[in-house]
Amino acid sequence: MTDYPDLQLFIDDRWRNTADTLPVLNPATEAEIGRLPVARQSDLDDALDAAERGFRVWSRTAPRVRAQIILRAASLLRDRGPQIAPAITMENGKPLVQARMEVIRGAEFLEWDAGEAQRLYGHVVPSAPGIRYSVLREPAGVVAGFSPWNFPLSQPARKIAGALAAGCAIILKAAEETPAGAIHLVRAFQDAGLPPGVLNLVFGHPAEISSYLIPQDRVRVVAFTGSTAVGISLTELAARSMTPVLMELGGHAPVIVCDDVDPQAAGVMSAVRKARNSGQVCTSPTRFFVAERSFHSFATAFADRAGQVRIGNGLDAGTEMGPVANARRIAAMEALVEDARGKGARVLCGGVRPKGPGYFFPVTVLADVPQDARVMREEPFGPIAVINPVSDLDDAITRANALPFGLAAYAFTHSAANVDRLTADIEVGNLSINTLEASVAEVPFGGVKYSGHGREGGAEGLHHYTVTKTISHRMELEAEPSVAGGKP
Ligand code: NAD
Repeated sequence: MTDYPDLQLFIDDRWRNTADTLPVLNPATEAEIGRLPVARQSDLDDALDAAERGFRVWSRTAPRVRAQIILRAASLLRDRGPQIAPAITMENGKPLVQARMEVIRGAEFLEWDAGEAQRLYGHVVPSAPGIRYSVLREPAGVVAGFSPWNFPLSQPARKIAGALAAGCAIILKAAEETPAGAIHLVRAFQDAGLPPGVLNLVFGHPAEISSYLIPQDRVRVVAFTGSTAVGISLTELAARSMTPVLMELGGHAPVIVCDDVDPQAAGVMSAVRKARNSGQVCTSPTRFFVAERSFHSFATAFADRAGQVRIGNGLDAGTEMGPVANARRIAAMEALVEDARGKGARVLCGGVRPKGPGYFFPVTVLADVPQDARVMREEPFGPIAVINPVSDLDDAITRANALPFGLAAYAFTHSAANVDRLTADIEVGNLSINTLEASVAEVPFGGVKYSGHGREGGAEGLHHYTVTKTISHRMELEAEPSVAGGKP
């Protein structure tokens, strides 16, 4: 009854298999659910040739027509959501309702960028009579995109939306752990009538693919979402050929809870949000800095709600949180909890992996965590929250900014003065007040510091997929040209 698709590469408008394959596992059962073909160098060469041809066609296609095709793909995704969502749950583990939301979110990214495709304005610069300076935004060329496993459909959708709306062609390497989301997305584009070669999908050994594709002269943009360590190595690789990069990397989101809000309501909201996607979200709220006066109520409400989160197979009705993605994440959670406990942190709930198959780990709340605990510096990328008291807003801001990350930050407060301070002083790309949502299609999203470079979404989202071209147009040839140049 569930639609787990055939796993194939998509190159030049055709699906293809290869002899070498990788297993895809269901993290809730650890059972194999598919075999994924591994791209050979010849497949990557075919993808590059196809993307180059596709770019010539697509970059010369009217923006309105590009937008129509992208919107058609979005509409197919919305229609197919009920069939696609179980496949996402099977490969990633998230509850079905979250998988359904992810498909809708993927469609929203496409719809927003389709609109932006028609608003990719250049400008004309005021200039002296007889000469006109115009500045154009042109599609950059072939994009090499790399998307992660935490959002198997919406993350690839974001990369594809930006690239295609700008008029680029893309070779996407989606995550090997979760290929079905990307495959369903590509099917929607194929059925929407996207010309051959504009979108190509490959899988394989990540380092082999990135080290082959990124240095190619034909690749004009690299777009990656994943860990900071991998982002740095791909950025170094791209720098050797002066290829611009869009990097959406790790975070370690601070949450500042001021004493002018209801601490219990904020605690319950935070626990629910922490459980989303089993905490495997780059914007997941993790380091809570709570005003001393609110600390006890906030931590108690948080731990109570976290302890009630229903964990199970995402396909089962009523499941609020599925497993984490793989055995590596379980090992990472256990190591972070043990380290914090050993250094004196209190474990308010969770911390112990339940027995049985599947990569399950409960929402874990650590309180009074010392600064030297690893979890205070290392992004858990899983369902762990740390809650510490702070003396005042200055203390909270200092501690929030103490890490080299700067992706998302949150605050709970009704004070305009507090919001003003936070806006000025928090070092992040996205600050959210009284909401734990950091990224929607219509606003730019991205990081500062080691959290990355460039923005996806909003009016800014297409910029990284374009190059700026300046046209200087003098209406008449100069009558008396001089070596010294024109008039000042
Ligand atoms: P990882 O660093 O090995 O991989 C992260 C992602 O990068 C995966 O999708 C992987 O396929 C890809 N990747 C790895 N090496 C690559 C290479 N040389 N070339 C191209 N792609 C490559 O870690 P992991 O264990 O899979 O994931 C855990 C860490 O990844 C987390 O700690 C988290 O920081 C990060 N992560 C971040 C996001 C995000 O949304 N920013 C998403 C997924 C993972």
